[in-house]
Amino acid sequence: MTSAATAARALIRDVPDFPKRGILFRDITPLLADSAAFRAATEAMADAFRAHHISHVVGIESRGFLLGTPISLALDASFVPMRKPGKLPAAVVKESYALEYGTDALEMHADAVKVGARVLVVDDVLATGGTAAAACRLIERCGATVIGCSFLIELSALGGRAALGGRPSAALITY
Ligand code: AMP
Repeated sequence: MTSAATAARALIRDVPDFPKRGILFRDITPLLADSAAFRAATEAMADAFRAHHISHVVGIESRGFLLGTPISLALDASFVPMRKPGKLPAAVVKESYALEYGTDALEMHADAVKVGARVLVVDDVLATGGTAAAACRLIERCGATVIGCSFLIELSALGGRAALGGRPSAALITY
């Protein structure tokens, strides 16, 4: 592991049974509170895609915003928020995805990424991969290319990488 990854890992707080029983929540707020470690972590996440000419970083609500914005600045790319339904003010495109019980959806402004855009998707945690896969489908429906997905944390036992269907993905920390 790199020193950025080691420092970040030490600042992830495990919270058992949040938001419901049986979930071990990986809380990134102690990392956000340490400016040197936070900067090093987002720079390392950006470095993994620096050679790929990323034009847009799409951050998934809400912790994907916190990580995605510094990564977009590091890559000299546009930042695009992808949000839960009903939050974005202008015309949107929408993609639904299955949850354990029911469905959820993500929205993005319809004019945010266009044909030819080279997109990096950013979120804090890759778990089952349902969220990130829906984000990728929505971006691809707009005619843009998903160059890759970047996560701070990958929970490898949950199979998220397979759900991403071969789209390149990177994680700073793997559990
Ligand atoms: P999934 O769609 O199953 O890959 O779940 C990913 C989304 O759920 C991300 O937006 C994460 O922020 C959140 N998430 C899933 N599992 C955890 C966890 N153990 N700790 C913190 N966030 C999680």
